[in-house]
Amino acid sequence: MRRHESTVAIVSGGARGMGAAHVRRLCAEGAQVVVGDVLDDEGAALASELGGTAAFEHLDVTSAASWAVVVRRTEELFGPVTGLVNNAGIVHFDGITTTTEAGYRAVTEVNQTGVFLGMSAVLEPMGRQGRGSIVNISSTAGMMGYTHGFAYVASKWAVRGMTKAAALELGPLGIRVNSVHPGTIRTPMTAVYDGEMADAIAAKLPVQRLGQVEEVAALVAYLLSDEAAFTTGTEHVIDGGATAGDFRR
Ligand code: NAD
Repeated sequence: MRRHESTVAIVSGGARGMGAAHVRRLCAEGAQVVVGDVLDDEGAALASELGGTAAFEHLDVTSAASWAVVVRRTEELFGPVTGLVNNAGIVHFDGITTTTEAGYRAVTEVNQTGVFLGMSAVLEPMGRQGRGSIVNISSTAGMMGYTHGFAYVASKWAVRGMTKAAALELGPLGIRVNSVHPGTIRTPMTAVYDGEMADAIAAKLPVQRLGQVEEVAALVAYLLSDEAAFTTGTEHVIDGGATAGDFRR
């Protein structure tokens, strides 16, 4: 299974969690991948473990200048970018009554503006080649509301909307854009749910367990590949059935 042999991809937030799984999966399928993250040590360690198929570059997704450097470095190392996984994200567990302006702006900067800047940064190389696939990581929080994640929900719905608007505009240029909406997946972000809370969430799901990072990586690898050539502007939910119906019974 080497369907990514001609893929040159950037994975934002690729140093750990789901992002690291996307990097590993794409490299295993033949891609050359730049891991972009603010976590320099973790990102460099992952790239060195994967050898010449991956490289680490410091990336702060909230900065257009940082994106420009990473896109340029990617082209120098591996060639023009053909794939982007906008995966970097942060969460604040606050409802509207407790969300501060600073907290709201921080989540919006990374989860929403970061996705906009990432897509903008790869348009030139993808447009030049007439070829590209962008996967924006949203969440089930981009399909419904959560009481303890006001800013997060707003940002993840924005990702879903931006994905559709960008897909309409970029399709004629040969660039596809899709969003992925994971449910609760075991990563450092959701470590706060470990133990009894994780068991309680899992027990309510049709599949009776939380998700694994590799399961999301398989979906992302498919969407980035030419096998998904007829798929753009759509949301792909991977949530163990959480949004199928009476999840909160
Ligand atoms: P994580 O915290 O393990 O990883 C997030 C990564 O993003 C980290 O490596 C972090 O350093 C990086 N990051 C944060 N701010 C950044 C910035 N300004 N610039 C560059 N990198 C930055 O979390 P995860 O669970 O692996 O989440 C990955 C994505 O999946 C996020 O967008 C998250 O919102 C989304 N998501 C997670 C879950 C879940 O249950 N874990 C569910 C749905 C969606």
